[in-house]
Amino acid sequence: MHTPGAIQPEGCLICLDDAYTRVTRVSANIGTFLGVDTAQALSRTPEELLGARLVGRVRRDLADSERMPSPLGTTRKIDGHVRRYRVFAYRSGTQVVVEFERQGHGHHDRLFSLVNDRLSRFARAHSVDALLDMLVEGVRRVTGYDRVMVYQFDPDWHGAVVAESRTAEAGSFLGHHFPASDIPPQVRRLYDINPVRMIADATAAAVPLVSGDGHGHGEPDLSPGVLRAVSPVHLAYLHNMGVQAAFSVAMHGGRDLWGLVAAHGLSPRPLAPAARDAARTLVQMATQRLSLLQARARADFLERVRVSRGLLSDTRGRLRRPGEIIRERGGDWLSLFGASGCALVHRDNTIGIGRVPDEARLERIVGWLNDEHQGGGVWQHRALGHTGLAGLIPREEACGLLVVPLPLGEIAAGWLLLFRPETVESVRWAGNPAKAVVDDDGRAGLSPRQSFETWLQEVAGRSAPWTELERHAATDLAEDLAVAVSGREISIINDRLRREHEALAEANARLRDLAHTDSLTRVWNRYRIEAAIDAELNAADRYSRPCALVLFDVDHFKQVNDTHGHEAGDRVLVGIAGLIGRILRSTDHLGRWGGEEFVVLATNSRLKDAVYLAERLRRGIEAMDLGEVGRVTASFGVAACMPDDTRRALVDRADRAMYRAKEGGRNRVVAEAPPEPAA
Ligand code: GH3
Ligand code: MG
Ligand code: MG
Repeated sequence: MHTPGAIQPEGCLICLDDAYTRVTRVSANIGTFLGVDTAQALSRTPEELLGARLVGRVRRDLADSERMPSPLGTTRKIDGHVRRYRVFAYRSGTQVVVEFERQGHGHHDRLFSLVNDRLSRFARAHSVDALLDMLVEGVRRVTGYDRVMVYQFDPDWHGAVVAESRTAEAGSFLGHHFPASDIPPQVRRLYDINPVRMIADATAAAVPLVSGDGHGHGEPDLSPGVLRAVSPVHLAYLHNMGVQAAFSVAMHGGRDLWGLVAAHGLSPRPLAPAARDAARTLVQMATQRLSLLQARARADFLERVRVSRGLLSDTRGRLRRPGEIIRERGGDWLSLFGASGCALVHRDNTIGIGRVPDEARLERIVGWLNDEHQGGGVWQHRALGHTGLAGLIPREEACGLLVVPLPLGEIAAGWLLLFRPETVESVRWAGNPAKAVVDDDGRAGLSPRQSFETWLQEVAGRSAPWTELERHAATDLAEDLAVAVSGREISIINDRLRREHEALAEANARLRDLAHTDSLTRVWNRYRIEAAIDAELNAADRYSRPCALVLFDVDHFKQVNDTHGHEAGDRVLVGIAGLIGRILRSTDHLGRWGGEEFVVLATNSRLKDAVYLAERLRRGIEAMDLGEVGRVTASFGVAACMPDDTRRALVDRADRAMYRAKEGGRNRVVAEAPPEPAA
């Protein structure tokens, strides 16, 4: 990736063994920095070459650390001139590498106030875009380079130039996309070791390292420092692009490389260490602000999801229907999730908003998920063309899908589906395809056109990735929908149960009626009136209250049938039952005893009350006009219940009284004989 054993001419380099007893290597340009030639340098001890104080300091700093926590300043008198250097040291295997750089006469005050000003502006940036614009502008001011860009990596390490500040002469790369292969993993790892990369003069020849004899120490790894020479391939690449100076700083968001700030100079541009530090400070502070803005964006996102969840029930606290929720909140969800479509598939109901497949296809999608995704849980993909859903969801419709099953248990099955469009749709190609993009050492020197096309190939048919945050939020929404759906389910089931229950109760009532009612006269049948007599005898016993029975039989009814026919006879029976029903109190009960015989159970009545009632009934029947049949009469027997009476005994006594009425000439009321005096 880089030229071993060579450095850039901006500084000089000295390698020591890690016991600090000898100098193992020096850069060939050491004379211009320390005023000694390489042979002299290699024959001295570290303390002789660098001074006891400096070696002591390096030793202390590297006692339990791989590199110095911060560079230090030192001065040397060369040819009568005092030179100020910046010294940085780090370990490399069994050696210690010490870098000397000219401190330069930087305008420190100017830098300081510039950085201060930019930092206070960063603190007021309320969007990522505004922040990155401030950052590239600030880094350009601090470095004086011609073009400063922010490259942002996506989760697949593809990148895009998302911010840029440049002079009129420098072409624009803003909006340019480039494939992950442009910055391969080994180059990205270098940024983890050392966030700053600098090529002050791409036209300058590298300075070789000269090693002492027989010390047995290998080539040092120069990655942690700033002087490391650049690979010839990369130099040629910069040259082809018209770039003669390059400087980049990593932006680490959390653990990962979030992006890079890359600066280009169209001519050699030595960057004083102080300016480099200032640029690095700006990048670090902007990256922190970026993290804060991203954390805020996450919080905003979650807040919007939370608000969306709060609308699950209406103002009266009633659960909304799932369809209603989707129609009302769906638009919000589309923008929240960057989705093009949102659908709820639930049993045979599908509700969609935005661009979603039709119902039949949605059902097939869900069917496929059911078969292929047995474990349940969230299912997501950003390149549906590579899944079994390829045939169901055309690329123009959606490339990404996030599916969350509604946790419905066994009541029903349902899914929330969020669809995402192809990323390429949202790409704006800006920049100069004729010019090459550059970033770091050792890349193969793809032209932008090629790299754009490579990138295009790699991202075709893909949506933006689904983040963990989005998965969680979608799971929350699905949970809410499940509540709505199951609430709905339960009310549907309840409705059905209630309807079934009502039908059943009605049928029961009908059956009970059928079982209790005489089909011709619609009054109680014999079974029912018997039960009523039993119940009343029980109650009469328990509460010592009176009751009586009136039994009556239509006189000469056979003649009615014989003269007018059976149906006329039926009508007479219906007429009598109707008449009696109208005369009786609600507490008295009429039943058909059989044939043309009826029973009246008079509750709370003594014998004389019942006789009186029977007399009213007799007169009523007698007075009734029965049309063609004319008039009929009936004979009545009355008995009152006695202590320890039985139904059978009571009915027998009424029956005997009724026969006495028949014998007595019919159309009359006869009360039972008074009980035999007790012996
Ligand atoms: P009595 O005054 O002695 O009671 O004379 P009766 O003719 O009424 O007595 P009987 O018991 O000899 O006749 C009863 C008749 O009632 C016989 C039967 O055909 C008739 N009957 C019984 N049930 C029905 C019915 O549901 N409809 C019709 N139309 N007639 C019935
Ligand atoms: Mg009879
Ligand atoms: Mg009769």
